[in-house]
Amino acid sequence: MTPAATTPLLLDGKWVRDQIFQELRPRIQKLAASRRPPGLAVILVGNDPGSEIYVRLKIKTCGELGIYHEQITLPETTTTAELLGIIEGLNQRPEIDGILVQTPLPPQVDKNRVLRALRPDKDVDGFHPLNVGALIENIPGPRACTPVGIMEMLRRYNIPVAGRVAVVVGRSDIVGKPLALLLLHADATVTICHSKTRNLPEECRRADILVAAIGRRHLITREHIKPGATIIDVGMNRGTDGKVTGDVNPDDAKALASAYTPVPGGVGPLTIAVLMANTVEIAEKHLGSV
Ligand code: NAP
Repeated sequence: MTPAATTPLLLDGKWVRDQIFQELRPRIQKLAASRRPPGLAVILVGNDPGSEIYVRLKIKTCGELGIYHEQITLPETTTTAELLGIIEGLNQRPEIDGILVQTPLPPQVDKNRVLRALRPDKDVDGFHPLNVGALIENIPGPRACTPVGIMEMLRRYNIPVAGRVAVVVGRSDIVGKPLALLLLHADATVTICHSKTRNLPEECRRADILVAAIGRRHLITREHIKPGATIIDVGMNRGTDGKVTGDVNPDDAKALASAYTPVPGGVGPLTIAVLMANTVEIAEKHLGSV
């Protein structure tokens, strides 16, 4: 294998996030001036340290952008019925446009019932079956934040998708599957790989766009990378030292790719940016301004 001839392009998630925020600010101001600001409710159940960090960041970002926000913190012992009751209340409140239930949920909570209880037009994460159906049919509706962020990254860096071979490693409901569908709707030829895929390196080496959404530190190495490929590393693997690493060996990505996302600072900032964008878009629909 020969290395990429030129220095690869570093795909900067913070740059994309800041662009998205800049575009959202006047829309938020317009809503706030004419009717009311967009509103997001974030529900945190239990004490998962990772979830606490994510929720804090989401709430802080709402504050910075002028989005009305509420954090509802519930104990680890919360039952499905109690959570459904909270969601029902939020479903009925007009000033709340989006409801986000932070995952993972404690084991006694029936996650599927909870996701189905959200009003589909308040489902900022795009996880309700009705919104997943809309994604499959390629009709409008809230879409999962991380996959949309990745598509925004590709678009804003002018990385072509149509007609290209995209390989997505990972088939989760929150990243792999929705991203594969978005790439398909953008006319890529898409392969989805997972833990039972035979000969993963060979499948990956066909990719013009290789996405790793696995959750295994540096599983993707030079044997998986076609020279000149674009590499999107979704992985966020926290080591015992607290350091976050990706699913792709960064030295191999740098040596072979034409463009790649760093970890941290690549895909990470996009998720929250799209969450804010989804909230604003839903608010505009609720307030009839689009
Ligand atoms: P997940 O639900 O655990 O799914 C992982 C996927 O990887 C599964 O489909 C699994 O296959 C596959 N997999 C596991 N080991 C594999 C192997 N050896 N070879 C091939 N495929 C393998 O994870 P997720 O929620 O999608 O998240 C994936 C990663 O992205 C995690 O590190 C997570 O922290 C990160 N993440 C980052 C963001 C962000 O904002 N940057 C957002 C979401 C997630 P099976 O289906 O066969 O088990």
